[in-house]
Amino acid sequence: MGRKRRIEITVETDRVTIIRSDRNVLRGWCQRCGEQVSMLTVDQAASVACLTPRTINSLVEAERLHFTQTPEGSLLVCLNSVTAVTSGK
Ligand SMILES: [Zn+2]
Repeated sequence: MGRKRRIEITVETDRVTIIRSDRNVLRGWCQRCGEQVSMLTVDQAASVACLTPRTINSLVEAERLHFTQTPEGSLLVCLNSVTAVTSGK
């Protein structure tokens, strides 16, 4: 019998959905904290810290913020370190 079965899995679409879920905030492993933390995009971190994305980038370069990079190359910033920087001023 020629029963054809097609399985199409749209991995890309699923992945985007996962990233966009959970109120747009990602959970990720921060090596510097040594725990699972909320990871923010540079834009999100900027609005949380009331700073410009440019300032966030320079804080990342100065290693005052914990960060990680996604396989896609976007920068994610550890929320703990954002809070530490903003409250420690
Ligand atoms: Zn951290």
